[in-house]
Amino acid sequence: MKFYIETFGCQMNEHDSEKMDHLLQTGGFELAKDTIDADVIIVNTCCVREKAEQKFYSYMGRLKDLKIKQGKILGITGCIAQLEKEGIKKRLPFIDFSLGPSSIHKITEAIEHAVRKTDFLDFSENGYHPSAFVTPENKNNGVKAFVTIMKGCNNFCSYCVVPYVRGREVSRESSDILNEIKGLVKKGIKEVILLGQNVNSYNKANNDMSFPELLETINGIDRIERIRFVTSHPKDLSIKLIHCFGRLDKLCEQIHLPFQAGSDRVLGLMNRGYTADEYIDKIAQLRNCCDDIAITTDCIVGFPGEDKEAFDKTMELIQHVKFDGIFSFAYSTRRHTAASALPEEVPKEVALERLRHLQEVQKAITLKKNRSIEGKIVEVLVEGTSKNSEEEITGRTRTNKIVNFKGKRDMVGRITDVHIVKGCANSLKGEKPKIKEARYA
Ligand code: SF4
Repeated sequence: MKFYIETFGCQMNEHDSEKMDHLLQTGGFELAKDTIDADVIIVNTCCVREKAEQKFYSYMGRLKDLKIKQGKILGITGCIAQLEKEGIKKRLPFIDFSLGPSSIHKITEAIEHAVRKTDFLDFSENGYHPSAFVTPENKNNGVKAFVTIMKGCNNFCSYCVVPYVRGREVSRESSDILNEIKGLVKKGIKEVILLGQNVNSYNKANNDMSFPELLETINGIDRIERIRFVTSHPKDLSIKLIHCFGRLDKLCEQIHLPFQAGSDRVLGLMNRGYTADEYIDKIAQLRNCCDDIAITTDCIVGFPGEDKEAFDKTMELIQHVKFDGIFSFAYSTRRHTAASALPEEVPKEVALERLRHLQEVQKAITLKKNRSIEGKIVEVLVEGTSKNSEEEITGRTRTNKIVNFKGKRDMVGRITDVHIVKGCANSLKGEKPKIKEARYA
């Protein structure tokens, strides 16, 4: 039987799809090239933003005919499955199965039920299954791998559905994580990216290793060249963790630290647990330990109660911090969240205009930062061939910037120095340096 997985949403979802892909391929299923070629279609869903949810329902409308006319098996997994629970069968009566994010290890069981023409609906809350943590062997690019270290979230930011759909925080045992990484190293992996909804609160409630201790231990593993982690919450960014930057040689000089808003009043309404000054202070501490650290962030505009003054504070923070990049969004109401009951909705056109302005300002900051690297020699881990040219290969700097430069495929997996000749909006253009210098960006 052939299967095809369509994924909506974030990195966690991509990773979950990889796990299902691995479970199915090792369970005797074959990967189809598209939905037409597939016997089983799995749609891995996301409801963190309204747009992703709308895209999912319109995609399901398109799949309905294919399912009915060609008798394919059609199932959904992920956040929308968890949020809608049994109600999903009312809305999409033609689906065969529906699994919440904590139940994806049951994917083959769900398909077996569908073959026997019995519904399979499973929405275990906060289920812990060791296989849900393991990185599938067949789905890394041979150079870097994501390693899930925790799942779920206890923060209940007022706009976010994650604690409702992914459940409360569960940290994976450190010994399992370290064994997985040692196994990845044997397969030639050079970079590990530790993954979790709130990665820096790893083991906060347990006596097992703390997050800084985990980083330190991974740093000591032979042949691992680079370590990154995503996503961090500012309130859980401890001094001990900040000091890991600049102290642990394999920990890359890069952090993604969502600030969301620059107004303390809005941050309070969002239940973020820090003020703008506290956030700025953490940035200063990070730059104190590691002055060339690249910082990216998330930001929401048009949150209920965000007046002009509050938005101006967001822009002030952006101008002050000068992020390397921002993932910015206009607020959209999510069912079940505390923010959905907040008054003072910001009109959509106002929110979109604020978003446009913010993105324009940030675009100039990012470009300026990328241009400031022109002329420097940077260390690049080559990840593959470039999408734009067969003659070019592509990789990332330690600060997580994409670099494209002329080179051969046999460079993939190697770390090399590259001379940056041009800083572009979203990447850097480089060439192999003639003389090696000891300066890195
Ligand atoms: S920290 Fe807040 S935004 Fe992030 S997953 Fe948890 S509740 Fe959602």
